[in-house]
Amino acid sequence: MQRSDPSTDTIDPAGNLSSIKEEIEKALSEAGRAAGAVTVTAVSKQHDATRIVPLLEAGHRVFGENRVQEAAGKWPRLRRQYTDIELRFVGPLQSNKAAEAVALFDVIETVDRPKIAAALAREFAAQGRRPHLLVQINTGEEPQKAGVLPGAADAFIKQCRSEFGLEIAGLMCIPPANEAPAPHFAFLAKIAKRQGLEQLSMGMSADYAVAVRLGATHIRVGAAIFGARIKR
Ligand SMILES: *Cc1c(COP(=O)(O)O)cnc(C)c1O
Repeated sequence: MQRSDPSTDTIDPAGNLSSIKEEIEKALSEAGRAAGAVTVTAVSKQHDATRIVPLLEAGHRVFGENRVQEAAGKWPRLRRQYTDIELRFVGPLQSNKAAEAVALFDVIETVDRPKIAAALAREFAAQGRRPHLLVQINTGEEPQKAGVLPGAADAFIKQCRSEFGLEIAGLMCIPPANEAPAPHFAFLAKIAKRQGLEQLSMGMSADYAVAVRLGATHIRVGAAIFGARIKR
């Protein structure tokens, strides 16, 4: 995790978030969408409480993490202090982490295969907790990336509902890094529409305004709020 020295730290997460929200409102109005229709998930991976607490103090409550272990190490304590946090899991999920993910997160955005759906259904029953679920779609059909292939999306969503009794709240995607994101966002919105799904988690620091114009309900922003992460 990144340690920051408050005496030399010039990053202002709360200030960054307000600028981002202004841009979102501009993009919403340009697209003819209702004001306030987008929630910012502040992706706090690799950042410790030093960076997170200023956002909590400013009233922000929706955060994202991409590793179960890392989230387990920093969020339970923050949750005791700020009880209305919404924690969203945005990383690749292994079935052996399903129990911990269900216990820790309010939303899991990365359901992408039957084995995970089955593990989540088991944990829902065992724990009596039901985090909201999004299905991740691998819109760019990248072999190294998580997510259901677009051609299998409808069948997988149906399987989640009928075979595993899971309610699906929406879809999530991460477009290929070297391609224009707009066609991927539009494609995700199209699948969501035909499946009657409300939540669309798409858009990150570099492209959230594009995603907002194309119907995002949740954008996942890390670097533009918290500053650059160390590559690992
Ligand atoms: C890290 C991460 C983000 C945030 O990316 P930035 O470019 O820092 O805004 C969004 N979504 C997922 C799935 C991530 O892992």
